[in-house]
Amino acid sequence: MNIGAIFIGFALLVLVTTFVLDPFRQRQHQMLANADVKSTGSGNSSIDTLYALRDLDFDYQTDKLTEEDYQNIRTELLTQAAVAIESRQEEDARIEELLRIRRRNRPGNGNCLQCGQVFQDENKFCPECGHARIF
Ligand SMILES: [Zn+2]
Repeated sequence: MNIGAIFIGFALLVLVTTFVLDPFRQRQHQMLANADVKSTGSGNSSIDTLYALRDLDFDYQTDKLTEEDYQNIRTELLTQAAVAIESRQEEDARIEELLRIRRRNRPGNGNCLQCGQVFQDENKFCPECGHARIF
């Protein structure tokens, strides 16, 4: 066997190995990319926490976690979820308040278009002339 045949054989081995291993490397890369999307999140921290809880339950059911670790992590995640839900509710309340102020300050909405009487928040019709309030 001459040195050329050995060299060609070695080159073929490297080439074939590269092609055979390529799909495995791509799959691993995709899995890493998916994990990144999950961990950095959709910008919605309560959804992220739910994913984390689901993964935690799965890990516990498959005996990857001890009872103590499971309880500690679960408590921490539930606290995070509660905080996320609370902050979202505060944000919703703030938006509602801004909308209410904006509606009240719209032209013709704070006063009757017919007679100029000032509307209260609950008024749907003018208390003075009965003209409908336009929202
Ligand atoms: Zn009126």
